[in-house]
Amino acid sequence: MEKSIKTIEELGGRIFFTSTACMSVWADALSWANKYQERIAKEPAEADHIVILSCQVTDLAVLNDFRTLDKYRRQYPDKKYFISGCLAKRMDIPVPAGAERLELPRADYQPIEDRTLIRFEPPFWVHDFDSEDKEFEQGHLFRNMYPLRIGKGCPFNCTYCTIRFTRGKFAKYDVYARLEKEFLEHEDVLLIADSPMPDQIKEWCRLAIKHNKHISIRNIEPKIAVLCRDDLLNLARKKLLKVFHAPIQSDNEAVLKDMARDVEATFATMDLCRRLKVLGVFIATNIIIDYKDFPNDFTEVYKLYDYVSWNPLWDRQWDRKKAEERYAYYLENGNEVNNAKFFNKFTEVTVHGQKETAPSYQTVPEEPGVEKS
Ligand code: SF4
Repeated sequence: MEKSIKTIEELGGRIFFTSTACMSVWADALSWANKYQERIAKEPAEADHIVILSCQVTDLAVLNDFRTLDKYRRQYPDKKYFISGCLAKRMDIPVPAGAERLELPRADYQPIEDRTLIRFEPPFWVHDFDSEDKEFEQGHLFRNMYPLRIGKGCPFNCTYCTIRFTRGKFAKYDVYARLEKEFLEHEDVLLIADSPMPDQIKEWCRLAIKHNKHISIRNIEPKIAVLCRDDLLNLARKKLLKVFHAPIQSDNEAVLKDMARDVEATFATMDLCRRLKVLGVFIATNIIIDYKDFPNDFTEVYKLYDYVSWNPLWDRQWDRKKAEERYAYYLENGNEVNNAKFFNKFTEVTVHGQKETAPSYQTVPEEPGVEKS
């Protein structure tokens, strides 16, 4: 079993990157790709190495990583293959023979001028994904926004979360003079961090107001969101908060307790989201479905949120055969069950979200003395 992990400096030649991961991983690699553009091959045929930027959040995601690897290998059997991103850090999951692990490359404070340097694979949980669809359609959220990296990793040690292993040491990027310039030079900015901290959120609310320019924020843990409640509401009142994403995982108190999550903060965050939504913010969350033997009722979550991403609980024991079965259940054969249970509700709420609550941005009248982007 391959246990070591290479660094990008050890690779010569040109590299083709493709991502099956989330925006945090994609944006990290994009920062490196923008700094070293001469090392990038936009087409796999032109590359010496092919790197899959991977996710390991569930076995479905791992299976998708490996299926993507298989797809490229079938087409380009003579290339050298690497698994990078989060799965590369899961030493308990063997990478397929012939592929190697690669530390995720990144270049701090590097603006991302060219997002086409790294391919973004279609989200595996969306059937018939069409890249031309609207930005709030399933699988599209955040995909076309400008990823402004403000941090990586997480300082907390929640037992159920693997971010502290897979995303490396927690770091906050807080040379604001550089980030502010990047913010002003790009449109539709999404702040990228695995777990943004209160001081960062507060500062970005201030900067968005200073420049009268909207932002979107993702991955705000409930216990952090409640500490920034007034700042976020203030930003929303000024129509400068476009999308707000805070993963609640569940709205069932017993489940939250079993997950050792902060129950009070979760409900307070849902309340905050209710208020943000009234102010025209598009609100998004994540849930974990099929959590042990607890009831699987997310009716209220789907009623409230404009966009819900779900993951089935996974015991973190990698077993490809089981993963194939679960993939079929959740995403293929299981569609009839799941359509009724999750997807229809999602669609209704999303359509409602688009029609009723999607705000228009940059409509706040310019105030005297406000610097315009
Ligand atoms: S940070 Fe989480 S969601 Fe993003 S690629 Fe890693 S495991 Fe997947």
